Amino acid sequence: MAFAITDNCIKDELCIQACPVDCIHPRNDESAFEAATQMYVNPAECIDCGACIPACTSDAIFALDDVPAEKRQFIAVNEAFFAG
Ligand code: SF4
Ligand code: SF4
Repeated sequence: MAFAITDNCIKDELCIQACPVDCIHPRNDESAFEAATQMYVNPAECIDCGACIPACTSDAIFALDDVPAEKRQFIAVNEAFFAG
C-alpha cells in the first residue's frame, strides 16, 4: 500500500516537512517543482506512516484505500511521476 496526493494539492510542502522518509516530491529545491501541478508520493518509498495526512490542510492526501472514487486516477498519476 501507499499514500497518494490528489489535485487538491496547493504545493505548500507541509507534508514534505512531516514525511520521515522524504518520499514526497518535487520539493521546491528540485528542478521539476515549478512545472509540477501538485506534489506526488513515491509509492516505492512510502512507509504508510500516515504523518502527512494531518499535516495537509488541503485534504489532498489519502491512503490508497481511502482515495475518493472521483480521484482514483491520481493513484496512477503519483506512480507515473516516479517512473523511468
Ligand atoms: S500538505 Fe497537502 S497541499 Fe501541501 S503540498 Fe502536501 S499534499 Fe499538497
Ligand atoms: S504516509 Fe508517511 S511515508 Fe508515506 S508519504 Fe505520508 S508521511 Fe511520507
